Formats: sequence, C-alpha cells, structure tokens
Amino acid sequence: MALLTKAARGTGDVLPSVSYKNRFIESTMLEIGNNFGFKEIRTPVFEHTELFNRSVGETTDVVQKEMYTFEDNGGRSITLKPEGTAGAVRAFLEHGLFNEPMPMKLAYVTPCYRYEKPQAGRLREFHQFGVECFGAAAPAADAEVIALGKHIFDFFGIDDLRLEINSIGCPGCRKNYQAALREYFNSNIDDLCETCKGRLDRNPMRILDCKSPVCSGIAGNAPKILDYICDDCQAHFDSVKKYLDAMGIEYTVNPTIVRGLDYYTRTVFEFVTGSIGAQSTVCGGGRYDGLVEQLGGPSVPACGFAVGLERFMMLLEARGIELPAENPTDLYIASMNDEANIKAAELASQVRQEGVACLFDTVGRSLKAQMKFANKMGVLYTAVLGTDEIANGVVNVKCMADGTEVPVALEDFAVNFINMSINKAVDDFNVGDVDVSSVLGGLL
Ligand SMILES: [Zn+2]
Ligand SMILES: [Zn+2]
Repeated sequence: MALLTKAARGTGDVLPSVSYKNRFIESTMLEIGNNFGFKEIRTPVFEHTELFNRSVGETTDVVQKEMYTFEDNGGRSITLKPEGTAGAVRAFLEHGLFNEPMPMKLAYVTPCYRYEKPQAGRLREFHQFGVECFGAAAPAADAEVIALGKHIFDFFGIDDLRLEINSIGCPGCRKNYQAALREYFNSNIDDLCETCKGRLDRNPMRILDCKSPVCSGIAGNAPKILDYICDDCQAHFDSVKKYLDAMGIEYTVNPTIVRGLDYYTRTVFEFVTGSIGAQSTVCGGGRYDGLVEQLGGPSVPACGFAVGLERFMMLLEARGIELPAENPTDLYIASMNDEANIKAAELASQVRQEGVACLFDTVGRSLKAQMKFANKMGVLYTAVLGTDEIANGVVNVKCMADGTEVPVALEDFAVNFINMSINKAVDDFNVGDVDVSSVLGGLL
C-alpha cells in the first residue's frame, strides 16, 4: 500500500501552502527575461533519446548514468528530458526559427528528470528556469545572458552569490588541451573509476566532472584549459570580462569550471552559493556554438543558462527572503438557510465575474461553522444572508480585520461591494498622514 500513498523516490509534491511561491518565482523570472527580449517556449517533457545522446554527449554522466529512457509501445526509444537546452534547439530547428530575425531569445520553465541519488535540493524530477540566445556570436551576448541571471538574483534580494566564469575554448584549441589531459590522466589511469577509464580516449574532459571522489581528487591537479586556449578564444573571453565590468557585475575566474555537458564552447559560468550546504551551483550556463550544427542545423552560435528552481527556493529560505503572500479571499457569503444559500450562490457568481475572490457554503454547515471556516481561510470580508436580508435587499458586510460593518444593497451587489471595499481602503489610508484621495484624484 505504501506504493500507492508515497511519491516515487526523488519526486515531490508542491502543496497549496507553497505553490503560490513557485508561481510567483516562475512568472517573475519569465518577466525579467522578457525585459531582456527572451520569449517563452514550451517543449515536450520527452524527446527521442538520440537527441540527448547527440547534444548532451554520449560520454557525460547524464547520458551514461542518469537518463530516464524507455521504449514506448511503438518501439521508439524515448527519454524524459534531463535538461532544457536540447529540446529548445530541436524546436528551433524543427520550426525553422533560424530564418527569423536574430538573435532569437527563448526562455522556459520546465521539469527535468535525472536518475541521481536524491539529496536536499537535488531531486530526480526537478525544475529549471532556462534561457537560450541563438544567433549571437559576440561576447556581448555571453555577458548579457550572465547579466540576466544577475538581475534575477538581485530582484529577489539574493546577495551572497558568487559569479564564477571560465573559458573552455573552441574545438580547435581544445585538441591540444585534450592531449595534455590524456597524458596527465594516463599517468593516473589505475586509480580512475571504470567509467573514466572509458572516457580517457573518447573525451578526457568529462573526467574533470566525474562525481567519484578519487577521480575528482586526481582531476584537481589536471592541466587547466585556460593555459591552452587559442588567441581568438582568449580575445572573446577578455571581451566578455570587459562587458561584465561595464555592467558592474563582479566575477572571479575559476579555471576548474567545465560544466558537465559536452556542448559548451568558450564561456562557461556558474552562480555559486555557500548558503545551502557546501558550495552549491544555483545557476549554470555558457556558450554552445557548435550544438545547432551538431544536431543537423545551420551553423548558429548560441548561449544560455539554467537555474535549478528547487535549489533557488532553498536559497531564498536560507537567506530568510519572504515572497509576497498569496492573494486572500475577498468575501465569504454565509447563509442562515437553504433559500439564503441559493441567494449567496447568485451573489458569489456576480462578484466573481468582476474579479472578486468569493466563497459560500458548499458543505451544508451551520452558520457558526461557516463563520469558523471563513475565519480559518483568512477572508477579508464576510456577509451573513438570512430571510430578513433578502426581504430588505441589504446585507451587512463585515471587515474581518477591524470588525466594522457597512450595509451593502443586494441590487447590483458586485458594484456596491467593490465600491465599499475601495472606500474602506481609502478611509483606512487617510487615518494615516497621507491623503490618498488627493493622489488618486478623479479616479475615485
Ligand atoms: Zn579556441
Ligand atoms: Zn570517474
């Protein structure tokens, strides 16, 4: 029975007491992205397995150990997306978006799936906010993408993040580096894990982000990519730094950042925090100039990043950052009998059409129990309908915050209720020193 009442390992529910925070975070990130010209794209949760093998890379941990891959009933190999970029690139190609004005800037919020050992902030089903900027090869694009990440963290008031940047060069300058890595790791080959032994010939850079403690210990002393990058890549990296300086964005160069996916070229970066356990990456990204072509498209440069939303929320909590509370229910219309409850349904329907959040009794509770429920829900106003109120065409609306009551006509109830609540808000404001009516003037 436990299988029926327990979520699968590494997955979690977002309950109503929390989900408004997710909604606020996701829509805020998309909105800030929009300020930078990034428009939302939605791509499927699953894709052909081949897409991830080809883009993320056959020798990465993600493809070798972590993907949720299965054969569907039509015999196709399908994989739940382990990251967001590949699907965005696939959509970019499928719909010929490269024919539209460049740069093409895309943003998304998506679930992702990786079979990893679950730990705090790292689930098997997790969520990412990500952006991809296609068709911009200049260093300004790398810097702008980084700046977007920075703006997002600044907006939420997160002030303990460190931006670390690196360049991992282009395929040209990487050849020399890979040769140096092969030589280095060959001298330690007996200590490497089995996976890394297999990587040595095919892709020695992936040994640098192996999660085995022995491998990462050996990787710590490996040659550094920055000593091997070509003049063009060096000039690109220097220019990115100039743009960051101009935008007042602080960074440190960390030559050990290589990111765990094969498609990166040149700039890679991470926003790192110490607030949620050991050094933890909240946002990672970089440039991937070869990926679109690698997936069968034209040569289109690109860069982007992804923020892990679960880790981002842990970070908000760790920093004590409060998000705006969810909008409360405006009005609860209680009823003293069945006839009054039908009237309550009618009035609720009217005010809801005007955008007022309104509840009435759908349980068949006593009046006392209805009021208790309204209190628990934290509603702003209550009204009690009975035979007298219906006969007189007026109901008293009570402000739950201060207990004041105002009679409101049932005829045109929605308009009357809204006017009453606006007047009350203005009156409450005028108790202070500022006269809001002089500010709002003719609006009221
Ligand atoms: Zn290069
Ligand atoms: Zn290893």
